[in-house]
Amino acid sequence: MSDLSEVDCRHPAGTFAPVIDPLRCEGKEKCADVCPYGVFEIRKLTGSERAALPFLTRLKVAAHGGKQSFATLAGECRACGRCVTACPEQAVTLAKTT
Ligand code: SF4
Repeated sequence: MSDLSEVDCRHPAGTFAPVIDPLRCEGKEKCADVCPYGVFEIRKLTGSERAALPFLTRLKVAAHGGKQSFATLAGECRACGRCVTACPEQAVTLAKTT
């Protein structure tokens, strides 16, 4: 988690939320490292989450320890954009919630 004193909070919490592309995410944790609000959780996929992925993506996820990122506290997002620029797989975008 980053230092809150340096954060450029562009919108009130809950106006935007991060969207993680499960076809791109390799669970490298960069989003969790840079998010000042602890929005992300990196964890192993459940069996049903794995089953929902295309075969090649399942292989890719397995090669990276079976982990991906989840925006479990998406309502805390202030749209600073750090996670979007930090992700080496370009798996994170921001979407307006309303
Ligand atoms: S844009 Fe990303 S890094 Fe910034 S607050 Fe939202 S989830 Fe966290």
